[in-house]
Amino acid sequence: MTDPGGELPHPDDVDDTPTISCSRCDAEWALDYELDELSMGNQAVEAFALDHQQHTGHFPDDVSPWIADCQRCPDGVERLEEQGVRRWATAHARHTRHTVELDHASRDEPVLIGDD
Ligand SMILES: [Zn+2]
Ligand SMILES: [Zn+2]
Repeated sequence: MTDPGGELPHPDDVDDTPTISCSRCDAEWALDYELDELSMGNQAVEAFALDHQQHTGHFPDDVSPWIADCQRCPDGVERLEEQGVRRWATAHARHTRHTVELDHASRDEPVLIGDD
């Protein structure tokens, strides 16, 4: 049997509604609600990711949060924007004198906040 020449349709390429998937939930969502109802535009993925984290406790695939993780106590935060996480880490280190690791998937190694 020969290949007819790569003319098989690719239904996934036609629909331009962005989708997001989560391997932990083993599910996939189209973001048309965020785009249409909430008029989120480029922030639809971020809005979805934050909602997902709030309701399930984890982020979906392809979303890399900034993570601040205290080396001395169980405190820490996960957020999508660096600024809030860096601010939390700085404040935590300042008030508790703990060292906080600030990390993101784009970094080779974490930054240490409050490390003298
Ligand atoms: Zn999930
Ligand atoms: Zn701490």
